Amino acid sequence: MVNVRGPFDVLVVGGGNAGLCAAIMARRGGARVLVLESAVKDFRAGNSRHTRDVRYMHKAATEYVTGPYPEEEFWEDLRQVTGGATNERLARLTIQGSEELGDWMPANGVRWQKPLRGTLHLTRTNLFMLGGGKAMMNAYYDTACRLGVEIVYESEVRGIEIDDGEFCSATAFRQGESHEIAAKAIVVAAGGFEANISWLKEYWGEAAENFIIRGTKHNQGTMLRELLKHGVKPVGDPRGCHAVALDARAPKFDGGIVTRLDSPPFGIVVNKDAQRFYDEGEDFWPKRYAIWGKLIAEQPEQIAYSIIDAKALPHFMPSVFPPVEAGSIAELAVALGLEPARLTAAVSEFNNAVKAGKFDPGALDDCRTEGLAPPKSHWARAIDTAPFYGYPLRPGITFTYLGVTVNEQARVIMQDERPAKNIFAAGEIMAGNILGRGYLAGFGLTIGSVFGRIAGREAARHGGS
Ligand SMILES: Cc1cc2nc3c(=O)[nH]c(=O)nc-3n(C[C@H](O)[C@H](O)[C@H](O)COP(=O)(O)OP(=O)(O)OC[C@H]3O[C@@H](n4cnc5c(N)ncnc54)[C@H](O)[C@@H]3O)c2cc1C
Repeated sequence: MVNVRGPFDVLVVGGGNAGLCAAIMARRGGARVLVLESAVKDFRAGNSRHTRDVRYMHKAATEYVTGPYPEEEFWEDLRQVTGGATNERLARLTIQGSEELGDWMPANGVRWQKPLRGTLHLTRTNLFMLGGGKAMMNAYYDTACRLGVEIVYESEVRGIEIDDGEFCSATAFRQGESHEIAAKAIVVAAGGFEANISWLKEYWGEAAENFIIRGTKHNQGTMLRELLKHGVKPVGDPRGCHAVALDARAPKFDGGIVTRLDSPPFGIVVNKDAQRFYDEGEDFWPKRYAIWGKLIAEQPEQIAYSIIDAKALPHFMPSVFPPVEAGSIAELAVALGLEPARLTAAVSEFNNAVKAGKFDPGALDDCRTEGLAPPKSHWARAIDTAPFYGYPLRPGITFTYLGVTVNEQARVIMQDERPAKNIFAAGEIMAGNILGRGYLAGFGLTIGSVFGRIAGREAARHGGS
């Protein structure tokens, strides 16, 4: 393979956040490290380049966070969103390990910024990267190169040789040629299978054709399948995923953050029959936004519409596409392709059920509906102020939760419960150990960073032994 000759101590498959954290740690641990990344250089760093912020445990306010976020509160937040579907040992390890990220990330080139409008719910709990995930990943690549990590792009690993729980070699394809690469240990950080529509169809049927993939087309799950094929123990619900409400006009892949819609709590959401189907004001957006993709996926033709009025517009970060605008609800319905009488009835029914309260987008306020099914528990205000706006919504898949089981050393666990000798996993591919369900904003990077660091450290230890 181009300018790359073994032997390697550690092979890292996937050059996203988890992969680069692992590569940097392994190299610092004295290992000779090779990173293989499917994408061309300009599109390296998978979903990680779309990120903005990371959730971390900390004891006090800093220039960039407004107050402490202790372990028990972090754990309670996670317990609530997962409904207890999490491995507490690994979850607490992640939370505790996240404390070091506030220093470790800047030590490896990442810079912080104060959160901007639209993200203020996270000012206490999350750190925002200056320049977002793209700048973060460029910094990690710079650091890795400076340390002497070897990186080859356009190299998809399609096969691995495993003998009795021991990794032997990987087969990578680059420009039509296959290459056999041996290493003393492997870290698999190749993301989930969210970009593999035919795999999604196994669990979602034809509905998956209407899913939009927010991140890289390269997360095809090739490595996940390989590991499972070789007897690694799976974890997580195959239908489980982080999926948000996305502007239906977004591109099929890689639309990134700007196509997400945060408007649901400030209006109503209806399906193509102009019927509401969920409590839009159940909880704060950071704790609930990741359920909307799944909710929309369960609606007819996997389409829904966010309906708001002029009062709501200043309260959320808009999508990159302008909303559909109209002077009346009936006109808005026509513009969105909905039945005008039905949408008008749905809005009237909602407006009539709204109980007066003190609107406060920063709190679980007392603006709610009464006698409406489903209810709207907070931020319920009549949709009565023209102009009226609508956004068409599709399920936007961020990442999938089916993955490989790991232990505290990020070592993958085989079907017979034995830890593999030299196979480690980090990031989306093992996030299902901790995220059985639900999501907390900024937690994908937390899992990938903590487990990437552990995997790199342990793989280097193994590689040096
Ligand atoms: C739009 C968007 C916004 C997000 N915002 C945030 C946020 O603000 N905060 C947060 O915490 N999380 C966020 N997430 C989730 C976050 O991106 C992921 O949890 C995290 O980046 C996953 O890191 P990873 O290294 O596991 O995967 P990735 O970053 O996706 O990296 C996987 C890499 O593996 C490569 N690859 C795949 N298969 C192979 C193969 N067979 N051979 C070689 N290479 C392969 C891919 O090309 C890719 O570069 C966001 C995700 C998206 C899509």
